[in-house]
Amino acid sequence: MADLPPGVQREYPLARLTTIRTGGPAELFARAGTLEALERLLAWSAAEGLEVGVVGSGSNLLVADAGVRGLVIKLEQDLSKIESQGTRIHCGAGARLPAVSAAAARAGLSGIEFGVNIPGSVGGAVRMNANAYGGELARVLGWVDVVSAAGTDRRGPQQLGFGYRRSNLERGEIVARACFALEPAASAEVKATLARMRADRKAAQPGGIKTFGSTFKNPKGPQAGQRTAGQLLAAAGCGGLRIGGAGFSVKHANFVENHGEGTTADVIALMAEGRRRVRERFGVELEPEVQTLGAVELPGGWKRR
Ligand SMILES: Cc1cc2nc3c(=O)[nH]c(=O)nc-3n(C[C@H](O)[C@H](O)[C@H](O)COP(=O)(O)OP(=O)(O)OC[C@H]3O[C@@H](n4cnc5c(N)ncnc54)[C@H](O)[C@@H]3O)c2cc1C
Repeated sequence: MADLPPGVQREYPLARLTTIRTGGPAELFARAGTLEALERLLAWSAAEGLEVGVVGSGSNLLVADAGVRGLVIKLEQDLSKIESQGTRIHCGAGARLPAVSAAAARAGLSGIEFGVNIPGSVGGAVRMNANAYGGELARVLGWVDVVSAAGTDRRGPQQLGFGYRRSNLERGEIVARACFALEPAASAEVKATLARMRADRKAAQPGGIKTFGSTFKNPKGPQAGQRTAGQLLAAAGCGGLRIGGAGFSVKHANFVENHGEGTTADVIALMAEGRRRVRERFGVELEPEVQTLGAVELPGGWKRR
């Protein structure tokens, strides 16, 4: 491929676009600032037979150490703007969820307060059906515009197959814009709720570390006995456990921390060990929540979704 479209770069380092700061470069990388630019990039990728990946805020993402083949896209400019219109918030999917929560509070709108501590983009939050404090993305979503090589289509929440930390969005389908349907509320009260949620989170989770938040989903079923993934990992002696440059946090055992030189392979090995300990001790099979980009080698039995 001698000629690349304007703005497409080769061998772009991705680690800096993730919160865990691991992984290699994208073979090709581009930022899309408008819906039209995104559509052009996807049409070009399809014509060239390239795989397409998307990175939001990289707060739930493990990139392969060997890098990612094909084109990786990040949304910006128009595709990260936030505007309130009556009781609705319209935004680009590159907008950060805490900024959407703050904009809603300023506009006197309630329903998306739960996003204040989720350091992801709107697109990543839709893909993952982000939730916190009893609030859930699926419940406040009006619609999304999804772009793929076939073009753009608008989907409602009932078409997105939402479940616990999942949606039915396929690789190569990029959420470009979203609309949230909220309820009118007193701005000062919503702002006070955000402040309370920020303080609660600060007390409960480690701050200032390189992590992608929860590593495993909270398990269901009788063996787990209402315990969270973090409680099971802690009880299985994983808090503080290290492999290479990656370690489970002492404060919150479901958080993996990159101590500096950690690689994606270190993180995967640590996760495998945590999973083994919980299986042996409690008979519970933890399911990873973190998403992967590129050919990340997963131990047998892990689902990639
Ligand atoms: C400290 C910390 C606390 C966290 N707390 C919470 C929490 O309370 N609740 C919670 O639910 N999550 C939490 N998370 C996890 C994470 O923030 C969420 O999963 C978030 O929704 C991921 O969004 P992102 O933009 O960072 O996605 P990324 O990590 O960039 O990507 C995640 C997945 O989404 C896909 N994706 C990204 N953008 C798009 C798009 N525009 N269109 C289609 N697919 C896309 C990626 O390809 C990838 O498969 C936390 C993470 C951290 C680091």
